[in-house]
Amino acid sequence: MSNKPNRTELYELGEFRLIDRLTEPFKPTLPETIMGAGDDAAVISIGDESCLVVTTDLLLEGIHFDLTYFPLKHLGYKAIVVNLSDVYAMNATPTQVTVSIGISKRFCVEDLDELYAGIKLACERYHVDLVGGDTSSSMTGLTISVTAIGKAKMADITYRSGAKINDLICVTGNFGAAYMGLQLLEREKRIFESNQAAKPQLEGYDYILERILKPEARRGAVEMLARAKIKPTSMIDVSDGLSSELLHICKNSNVGCRVYMEKIPIDEQTAKMANEFGIDPYTAALNGGEDYELLFTVPLSEFQAVDGMEGIRIIGHIVEPKLGAFLVPPSGEEIRLTAQGWNALRNGQ
Ligand code: ADP
Ligand code: MG
Repeated sequence: MSNKPNRTELYELGEFRLIDRLTEPFKPTLPETIMGAGDDAAVISIGDESCLVVTTDLLLEGIHFDLTYFPLKHLGYKAIVVNLSDVYAMNATPTQVTVSIGISKRFCVEDLDELYAGIKLACERYHVDLVGGDTSSSMTGLTISVTAIGKAKMADITYRSGAKINDLICVTGNFGAAYMGLQLLEREKRIFESNQAAKPQLEGYDYILERILKPEARRGAVEMLARAKIKPTSMIDVSDGLSSELLHICKNSNVGCRVYMEKIPIDEQTAKMANEFGIDPYTAALNGGEDYELLFTVPLSEFQAVDGMEGIRIIGHIVEPKLGAFLVPPSGEEIRLTAQGWNALRNGQ
């Protein structure tokens, strides 16, 4: 755009530093704005002990999804789910969504029916109402922006900033599956492009394909913790890679962490596919992204309660900030956690 001599390229800052720079001048001024930009969702007080949470995500064709292998119905479902995941990460219950779309001439009415069938399915499954949105034509492909609203008692909200020294670090589900599913789809796409007669070889990998094409948000885990009367001290959903999200918790809570490599849950299909690609399964698990699992901390006193919970694993603990954020392999030296995550800004033009 500009030819200023002091032009800084977007990738030089990276997504997180760019967001910090842009939102810095917008510190909340109203008493209702309990949390502005900087967590999984904004928190807005509604007078009594209750609050609303609000979060929004943008999905762009060619950046976040490729329609050569992404069915529109799945895409609609996923667009809702990824937003609900941010609501659950605040320990809140999603209630409404709005959906805005930009559509190029390539798409027909029936395509959008498909997209909205997926949106409807997700709304039904997660008991949320679609209450509006916006529709526009677009010069380039398909754009979907979803905003999700949720509700909670103010005292139940979990921020990224509440982790305390000695807290246990817990996760739901497993990691790296969506990333390996994506690698598989991309490989089959390349094969198909070079030989149109080739049939995609996807058998035996249904789980990792589902994790990329039709992810779910971890409602069950949030409800299970509430039933057990456990309020996490901090929580975040894992969209940019476990490593990156651990660093968000550490930075926002001003703490360090130790995560034990062999405790990180990895599904069999993820490990198998990673081996086929010559990728270390732990690299996929730590840096892959799009897992939509929850990462949270609980006080050490909750060890017994969380240790036995189905689908939840303790992977490490919180330490003093000066000890830094490290991964502990079964043998050898500790490895400093780095946020490789997605750098969406590198892919664009
Ligand atoms: P998540 O991965 O949980 O969706 P993001 O990394 O996308 O979170 O965003 C981090 C925080 O920055 C969120 O609170 C989000 O609302 C805010 N944010 C992101 N982009 C912008 C923007 N362009 N303007 C204002 N706030 C933003
Ligand atoms: Mg999030």
